[in-house]
Amino acid sequence: MKVGILGGGQLGRMLALAGYPLGFRFRFLDPAADAPAGHLAELVVAPYDDPAGLERFAAGLDVATYEFENVPAAAAAYLTDHVVVFPPRRALEVGQDRLAEKECFRSLGIPTSPFRAVDDLEGLRRAVEELGLPAVLKTRRLGYDGKGQYVLREPADIDRAWEAIGGVPLLLEGFVAFDRELSILAVRGRDGATAFYPLVENRHEEGILRLTTAPAPGLDPALQRAAETLAGRVLAEFDYVGVLAIELFQRGDELLANELAPRVHNSGHWTIEGAETSQFENHLRAICGLPLGATAPRGHVAMINLIGTIPDAAAVLAIPGAHLHLYGKAPRPRRKVGHVTVLADDPETLRRRVEAVIALL
Ligand code: AMP
Repeated sequence: MKVGILGGGQLGRMLALAGYPLGFRFRFLDPAADAPAGHLAELVVAPYDDPAGLERFAAGLDVATYEFENVPAAAAAYLTDHVVVFPPRRALEVGQDRLAEKECFRSLGIPTSPFRAVDDLEGLRRAVEELGLPAVLKTRRLGYDGKGQYVLREPADIDRAWEAIGGVPLLLEGFVAFDRELSILAVRGRDGATAFYPLVENRHEEGILRLTTAPAPGLDPALQRAAETLAGRVLAEFDYVGVLAIELFQRGDELLANELAPRVHNSGHWTIEGAETSQFENHLRAICGLPLGATAPRGHVAMINLIGTIPDAAAVLAIPGAHLHLYGKAPRPRRKVGHVTVLADDPETLRRRVEAVIALL
């Protein structure tokens, strides 16, 4: 199997690392010559919408996939004409647009925050009147890790928010006073078989994921069932193949869907050591038409993102149950340069080990 991956970041790199034991080979397309996946596999360096680059990338592939959702429409169109591509293009298109995501959730009966599309300052004023404050203004496209977002707390924030991120299509969401943030990773094979990982709890700081705990502490089986039901609806809607992540807010015993990512996801990195089959291996199994692997966790697991700095490797590895992953990226503020996964047999030991890792950051 020769697998092509659009995007050569850490997600692509971890996909390749999961695929080598299965005998797969990989080719990446990325505009950056120093893309992290280039250390491991063939890398075509070209802009995503460059026809010559796409042609070199697609030649001879058995299947293609992507590691991010902002694939330009022209690139997606070229690829689907020349090679089998999973996940399906419609899931990609919906995942690129926060408004389409929310409308998709609503159409499937999945609760979300209240929202309004906003196209101009007048529209923003109207949306604030309808939804009230606080509210969160987001760009519909190309937002990630808290970029392209503005929290409005008082009427004077309307003009400030418009100044900061206005001029492009936007979405205003009512602020959700959630108890915690969760996500579910789901996977669907070419034959329609599905599997779900346990809900995990995610802690963000400044819009960037810092800590994932798996399974989510105190996870109620009914909540897990509810998450699997809603994720199953999204999988079926798109005739999906591959791993899908859905970010959720928990409020009481209610789940609100915030975002979907039609790809492997940062909140699933814990599965490399912490689950029977990692999200990366399961994504590859799915897109290659192989049986899905078991998703059961191996004990209590946490994943700590390394953001902007790389701790001393020996100090991390001296912590029992800790596994270090570095992506081969130069440290820069707010940049994800690696992660640490910690395993333990009980929540208390896990908490102590996580604290030991955090103390090194
Ligand atoms: P997002 O890019 O939509 O994942 O948003 C980044 C983070 O901002 C989320 O993980 C939440 O912590 C917060 N956030 C986003 N939307 C809302 C909302 N409607 N209400 C409250 N917090 C939000």
